[in-house]
Amino acid sequence: MKNSFKKSNNVKVSYWDKKEFLDNKDIIIIGSGLVGLFTAYHIRKKFPKTKILVLERGVLPHGASTKNAGFACFGSPSEIFDDLKKIPEDTVWQTIAMRWNGLKKLRSILGDGNIGFEPVGGFECFDDKYEFLEMLEFSNLLNKKLKTFIGKNDVYDDYSVHLKDYGFGKIVGLIRNKYEAGIQTGRMMQSLLTLCREAGIEILNGITVEQIQECNDGVEVHTDFYHFKVPNVVIATNGFASAITGRKDVLPARAQVLITEKIKGLNWKGTFHMDKGYYYFRELDGRVLLGGGRNLDFKTETTTDFELTEKIQLKLEELLQRVILPRKKFRIEQRWAGIMGVGPEKKPIIEWHSERVLIAVRMGGMGVAIGSVVGEMAAEKLKERL
Ligand SMILES: Cc1cc2nc3c(=O)[nH]c(=O)nc-3n(C[C@H](O)[C@H](O)[C@H](O)COP(=O)(O)OP(=O)(O)OC[C@H]3O[C@@H](n4cnc5c(N)ncnc54)[C@H](O)[C@@H]3O)c2cc1C
Repeated sequence: MKNSFKKSNNVKVSYWDKKEFLDNKDIIIIGSGLVGLFTAYHIRKKFPKTKILVLERGVLPHGASTKNAGFACFGSPSEIFDDLKKIPEDTVWQTIAMRWNGLKKLRSILGDGNIGFEPVGGFECFDDKYEFLEMLEFSNLLNKKLKTFIGKNDVYDDYSVHLKDYGFGKIVGLIRNKYEAGIQTGRMMQSLLTLCREAGIEILNGITVEQIQECNDGVEVHTDFYHFKVPNVVIATNGFASAITGRKDVLPARAQVLITEKIKGLNWKGTFHMDKGYYYFRELDGRVLLGGGRNLDFKTETTTDFELTEKIQLKLEELLQRVILPRKKFRIEQRWAGIMGVGPEKKPIIEWHSERVLIAVRMGGMGVAIGSVVGEMAAEKLKERL
């Protein structure tokens, strides 16, 4: 018999690996962040027999979904005011409604206990009296407007009389959004992963998709571990999407964060925004978590690199000392960064990238809020193919 041995790329796998773990899937979802997992969950609900495989390059999800600040938020006045200057009005209201509905869905699918939901309110802090008064007037208009979109006309109120309770420095006005909340990001992702696994969704970690190639009868998914072939693919890699798609309408945006050690006598709660949402902080487990500052250096922060920079970290520390904890001693316990996906429009892309490849990316700073509905919309689009 002639020797048929040839060197191949797939030497790492056995017959059993191929049969049970790798081959014969109906769909591959790339990325196990909120969007990838919610897409998998909604596909499972709509098409119970579909064999779904999620490929994640990290040991843990390694983008934004386990790195974020855990704000269940849908819009602070200055952020919305700013959006209305740049974005068509309809899109602004639709996006707020999407965030509102997404948060409701997140809570109903996973349950408040499983996401550590704490209805502590969202607050916008102002260090300029005139801006505060302008935004207060605008928030009254917003209350009327939002009745149409989310069915509430009492979202915002002036909370400045309570400022002394927080002990912030330099802050002259506070507007509350009473329906915003804090969540425990890690617990939310653990719960979502458990839900998916219990629903029979297979998730393989530590596999990087390097290239996808569509052919007549399916999509070849080339990874650093194995070459898969499936009828359909969903790309849910958000800020990393351009690497495998070449798309220019979703760009990486690094967001840096720090958290203090436990602080004695920290007696306030809440999720806070400053400066059109470019800075955000909250109480978390007796500590302060603070993030933001991307606007100091947009160019450098347009990256998929998780490195921290001195410029932004020093600014965060300065803000912490001067404004948030002016009379308190604190030590920084940990710092990290996450990568978001942003673009020229502040709305997600959920569309067919090609005949058999769907893309669901560009969550900006609102993926906690909209991830569940984006996943549902992606699953709905797959209806015609599954
Ligand atoms: C610091 C920070 C604070 C934030 N705060 C909030 C907040 O308070 N509220 C809010 O609503 N939103 C917030 N966001 C935004 C929110 O976290 C994101 O919008 C959301 O997590 C995006 O989810 P995703 O699934 O689209 O992307 P991701 O969570 O980034 O998931 C994409 C996944 O794809 C994987 N991947 C990438 N490339 C490949 C590849 N080639 N092969 C295999 N896998 C790959 C990545 O490892 C990653 O796990 C914040 C983000 C950051 C970074």
